[in-house]
Amino acid sequence: MNKLFPTLIIGTMTAISVHAAENKDFNYHVDRFADIEVLRYEVPEYNRLTLNQKKMLYYLSQAAQSGRDIIWDQNGKYNLAIRQLLEKIYTKYNGDRNSKDFKAFEEYLKRVWFGNGIYHHYSNDKFVPGFSQTFLEEQIANIHDCCLPLAPGQTREQFVKEILPVIFDPAVLPKKVNQDGKQDVVATSAVNLYGDGVTQAEVEAFYAKMKDPKDTTPISYGLNAKVVKENGKLKEEKYHLTGLYGPAIAQIIYWLDKAKQVAENDAQKAYITKLIDYYITGDLRLFDEYSILWAQDTKSDIDFVNGFIESYNDPLGMTGSWESYVNFKNGKSSERTEKISSNAQWFEDHSPVDKRFKKTNVKGVSAKVITAAMLAGDAFPATAIGINLPNANWIRAAHGSKSVTLENITEAYEMASHGNGYNEEFVIDAPTSKMMDNYLYITDMLHTDLHECLGHGSGRLLPGVDPDALKENGSTIEEARADLFALYYLPDSKLIELGILDNPDAYQAEYYKYMLNGLMTQLNRIELGKDVEEAHMRNRQLIAKWILENGKKKDKGGKDVVELTKKKGKTFVRINDYPKMRELIGDLLAEIQRITSEGDYAAGNALIQKYAVKIDPKLHKEVIERFSKLDIPPYRGFINPVYTPVYDDKGEITDITISYPENYVEQMMRLSRDFSTLTPKKGKSSCSL
Ligand code: ZN
Repeated sequence: MNKLFPTLIIGTMTAISVHAAENKDFNYHVDRFADIEVLRYEVPEYNRLTLNQKKMLYYLSQAAQSGRDIIWDQNGKYNLAIRQLLEKIYTKYNGDRNSKDFKAFEEYLKRVWFGNGIYHHYSNDKFVPGFSQTFLEEQIANIHDCCLPLAPGQTREQFVKEILPVIFDPAVLPKKVNQDGKQDVVATSAVNLYGDGVTQAEVEAFYAKMKDPKDTTPISYGLNAKVVKENGKLKEEKYHLTGLYGPAIAQIIYWLDKAKQVAENDAQKAYITKLIDYYITGDLRLFDEYSILWAQDTKSDIDFVNGFIESYNDPLGMTGSWESYVNFKNGKSSERTEKISSNAQWFEDHSPVDKRFKKTNVKGVSAKVITAAMLAGDAFPATAIGINLPNANWIRAAHGSKSVTLENITEAYEMASHGNGYNEEFVIDAPTSKMMDNYLYITDMLHTDLHECLGHGSGRLLPGVDPDALKENGSTIEEARADLFALYYLPDSKLIELGILDNPDAYQAEYYKYMLNGLMTQLNRIELGKDVEEAHMRNRQLIAKWILENGKKKDKGGKDVVELTKKKGKTFVRINDYPKMRELIGDLLAEIQRITSEGDYAAGNALIQKYAVKIDPKLHKEVIERFSKLDIPPYRGFINPVYTPVYDDKGEITDITISYPENYVEQMMRLSRDFSTLTPKKGKSSCSL
């Protein structure tokens, strides 16, 4: 659960000198459709890597892309068939490619690629096609049987009858992940982590029986398995070499094994070996052993994540979505995070949290700034800007964790946002806007560092508290905890003492942005009439609204700490008292940590229902209207660079070059061509019918 996603990115910034970008003419913009903008990111300093390191990075990138089909299947059981069908139509369509139907079809396909399936990556809602069902039926009729993704024994008629409602009927499988605690979240989620007919109560009972409350080093139950019902009884179908997703996992293992042979050191070799063993067997004890070895390797330059990691897509928060990040260290910027992490105990000791809930001995939080080189699975095209792993609480407590900030990704977001008009439209006055221009780049980055490196790693559960006690609210509460920890420390003089910030007021840039985003601008990501659903968005609204409400003046003549005010008919956020706002953040942090440490489901749920879910419809409408004039996409993601081996006449690799030649469609079609590990090619590859 330890990922930080970008908030909406704010306008211009002047502190350009801190940027690492190598090429000021680099073109970040790739594509724009629906509510999405696709960017590309630069990989600065790639050419400082040795040949061996480049090889390793290449093999790990291949391993990363080999798992692509896994996340598609996890996100919904019809996704792979639908992708195959849509791509076939897209390639062979010979009508007017500028017609309304085809344009709408193309946009739908682009959205499906972005969501790794037919659901929105953030809202979890099913996409609504802008083309007619008749159009699709006509296109299917033009495709020969051998090119249709028919299941074994399935006829064309059966296929069409099955797939059309999945695409067109809003009542069929409407939501990827349903978090409405009043419903059966397993039965009502379309995500393909549970088989047909499985209920929430059954799954909870199934795992409750397996868990031993006295086990102090529990495996991450359910992390790598789909739960299905067979003869009325539940069982796990595990993801491993000879189990579910075996063909994809075989490819991943093949490339990991090649990477192992060019590993930088024995520690790295050891954890790759362990990861391979885990992929072969599916044994979660081995995954824990791998995680410990991985967390302890802080020396290697090249690093990666490859596996079933984050559980946001599981309504019960257990099964990991497959993802991969490949990266190398940004030495210069890592000096900043090393200063923070080497003072982790100081931050823990001075937090406003009750002593009983603090760690007396914070274990090696290692923090670094990295350059992302490949994003894959659930981390692609939409990606996080910070990661903190491993997720298992007992491993974090006993062996520490690794926290990373993806600086070249953050940078690409910022660079692509120049002059987009956001500040002018939403920030209350020129001085606030200027402060954000000057300090937001560094305070945003620091917020990510503090959130990942200290926030998620801080605090402890009281003995005997079930880590899953907060149930469907677990992700939101955990993100709130990490955000509050970061926000609490941004104004602290410790950061100036450590030489990380040079202005004691710099934090105000981040505070203003946070309140503006949590109270107003993030609403642009939500359709009118809907509630806030996604965990990070709920967390931000929870914090911002709680501060707004609890900072209301108590006596006559005083001012609200934060207020929503009108100027020329438009709503603005005004912060009247920044130091008092920090105190409120401290109060809420103490309460959220108590809820986590005691596993107080009722209190957590009450907070979320009161502050995090509901939206003022008038304000919502206003925000969307103001955004619509700016044409700022609510969501952004990335395509990856291309790595190409160069061979000598003996067939030895002499170099791996990096280039950025593809557009969005080209990259997606290439991935489907080269990495369709779970979608067997139908008929002869030469089939052109
Ligand atoms: Zn987080």
